[in-house]
Amino acid sequence: MIDGNGWIDVSVALTTGMVCYPGDPPVEIVRFADISKGAGATVSHISMSAHAGTHIDAPLHFFHGGRSIDFTPLPSIMGRARIIPINHTGPISRDELVAWGLTPGEIILLKTPNSKLWRNDAFSAGYAHLSVAAAAYAAEIGLTTIGIDYLSIGGFDDTGSEVHHILLEGSVCIVEGLDLSRVPIGACEFICLPLMLKGAEAAPARALVRPL
Ligand SMILES: [Zn+2]
Repeated sequence: MIDGNGWIDVSVALTTGMVCYPGDPPVEIVRFADISKGAGATVSHISMSAHAGTHIDAPLHFFHGGRSIDFTPLPSIMGRARIIPINHTGPISRDELVAWGLTPGEIILLKTPNSKLWRNDAFSAGYAHLSVAAAAYAAEIGLTTIGIDYLSIGGFDDTGSEVHHILLEGSVCIVEGLDLSRVPIGACEFICLPLMLKGAEAAPARALVRPL
């Protein structure tokens, strides 16, 4: 990745064996054909969960018959956004979100200590995530999108799926697996484009931020 024109790449690089959400299939990117081994061209074979690295969850992830990733509305994945700092791990409370004065239709990206966790080879269960009450507030106020800088917007406990349910039922787009370590707090432009996986519940995405 090479930043340019003010845009900062906030995607996580996909590599074989990278940290994944526990239980998900691993990322494997292998040379199916290799010019250094006599092939006419180098061709890679990719095998991975749709939830590896930077990705977007669609309602189908938790709702049978829900909208799939290929029907993600463009306004939810590109436009003006706001980077909000969270300076602790563990659950993020409703009051913390309320304090930032969120407004309907906003795209919010939570910059937490999680961004440092990408340096660890092993999964870290103690990441910052939305509490159930914070998720309910995000849905109630009508956020368009909420993004976070680790593998789940919900906790690695029994509240994790409830947080997803609340957000997806409330039509809040969920972006997970960002690396926000290099972006400043405040207003920005945001682009996050999921691969066009037909009928899938999620897709890997490339995400960029341009501070305003
Ligand atoms: Zn996901």
